[in-house]
Amino acid sequence: MAIRCNCGAKVVIRTLWSKNNLKKLYYACSNPGCDCKFIGWVEDEQKRACLNISMKIEQQYLKLKLYLAISWFLFVSFLVYKVWVK
Ligand SMILES: [Zn+2]
Repeated sequence: MAIRCNCGAKVVIRTLWSKNNLKKLYYACSNPGCDCKFIGWVEDEQKRACLNISMKIEQQYLKLKLYLAISWFLFVSFLVYKVWVK
């Protein structure tokens, strides 16, 4: 990550739960001896990028399931065809 704290330590992303159960992400210093526990809010676009990645993974998983169903259907129809031809 490009973002660094004033002390030079790496910045980590922490989660904060607000009163109405809304998840908020913020940057915090990874150095336990550092005073800057809060550096800034994580931009919405980065959050959206994370969301897009998880959505893409879900779509790929659905595609995989579809391929599996199609290959299973082809296999069964092949068996049925073999039995009928005899
Ligand atoms: Zn720091």
